Parts: sequence; structure tokens; C-alpha cells
Amino acid sequence: MGKLWGNIKNVTLDLLYPASIYCISCGNVIDNSRPYALCDLCVRTAEWSNSRNVCQCCGKLLCASSNAGFCDECAEWTPAFDKGFACAEYGGVRNITHAFKYGGKAYYGEAISEMMFDRLRDELPEIDIVAPVPMHKDKERKRGYNQADVLASLLAKKLLLPYDRGVLIRKRATDAMSRLGSSVRSENIKGAFRAEPNRAKALRGRKILLVDDIYTTGSTMNECALALKAAGAKAVYFVVFATGTDRI
Ligand SMILES: [Zn+2]
Ligand SMILES: [Zn+2]
Repeated sequence: MGKLWGNIKNVTLDLLYPASIYCISCGNVIDNSRPYALCDLCVRTAEWSNSRNVCQCCGKLLCASSNAGFCDECAEWTPAFDKGFACAEYGGVRNITHAFKYGGKAYYGEAISEMMFDRLRDELPEIDIVAPVPMHKDKERKRGYNQADVLASLLAKKLLLPYDRGVLIRKRATDAMSRLGSSVRSENIKGAFRAEPNRAKALRGRKILLVDDIYTTGSTMNECALALKAAGAKAVYFVVFATGTDRI
């Protein structure tokens, strides 16, 4: 499980009256010393990524038979982003991402951003600005928050890096991506973002870290990176909490 979970070993197990909280994945009662508010079982069932078991381009977990360090998708395209990082395979953390995104549990952002921070701390390239993948303003009004904004602002604080939620604009609302297949998804998102014109100067020559909750086909991240690079950004990296795997 690598570095991400190294600190679990240091947790004391013999607390007499531990204050109880709930595991953010399964809801079981845990004591509040558990890292990331996860119970041991949920830590064991999820698949966590580290520097060795992922696609060197998009951060997706690779199966044992993958070679050359790239997933099938990245072996066939050159995306506009430079490199991506992820914490875990989507299936094992589905409950967390779902509750965080659709269940109004914005406060899960604290545990999730802590996992992102631990995933990045030893590998993060030099970054000038941390920014979220923007949500269309109508959708954000309806949901009450943009989950990427919650994560990105918390993460920027932990990384001690400047945060700018306004570098990208989502020009139009897109159909619910989860319902779409990959080719439709990429058509649906094409041209959906542009860099905020007032930020042109701030973006030129800068290295950006984009933050989102989930990476699926990469079309969203690619479009964001295209828009940032068109505005003069030098490099675009990203971090997500959950990603797919290339396992068949
Ligand atoms: Zn649990
Ligand atoms: Zn990949």
C-alpha cells in the first residue's frame, strides 16, 4: 500500500475510551485516530496507488501484465496534460466519492484532500498555481458546492501553494458524464472550457496543478489542459482522488 498508509502503523490501538466517529466509506464506528477517517477493512479493500503501480501518464492503476508503464489509453494518445496522479481505484472508494459528490458530504473533502496530499508529497513536480476543474455555475448553484473546488482549496493549503479557483471557465453545462460512453463523452466535453481572459498574464509560463474528484476517460482533464496551455501555461499536472484501472 506504499507510503500513503505508512503512518497507519504508528497509530495507537489501545486507547481506553476512544472518541467515536464513522468510517467515511462504510459508516462503521471507528475511533478518531484512524487516518483519513477510514476503518481498517475499507483501507484493506480499496486499491491504493503509489509511484510504481500506475500509468506514468494519467495515474491510472495498472494490472500486472501492463508493460512500458502506460495504460492502454495513454499508449495511444498524447494528452495535453503532462502527468496525472490518483489516490485509489474507483471501485474500492465508490461510496466515498458518491457521498462526497452527490450526498452533500462536503466535509469529506478534509479526509480526501489529506489522502491527495500524502499521495503527492514525495512526487509533486514544481507547481505555481493549484486550481479546480470548474463546474458550470448553474450546476454549482444547484449542488451547493463544486467538489473539485473543495478539494483543491484544502489541498493548496496543505501544499502551501497559491490557490486560484478562477483560472478556468466552464462555458456550458455538459450532459451527465457518468451516463455517457467514452467517445460520446469526449465529444460532449470538447471546447467546454476556456481560460479566464483576466488571468492571461498570471498563467503565462506557469505550472498548474488541476484538482478533481474522479478521472475516467481523461477527456475533461485533457480539455482543461488544452485551454490552460492555449493561454500560455507551461505545464499542467493533475491530481484526482479516484481513477479507473486498465484491468480487463
Ligand atoms: Zn469502513
Ligand atoms: Zn494512462
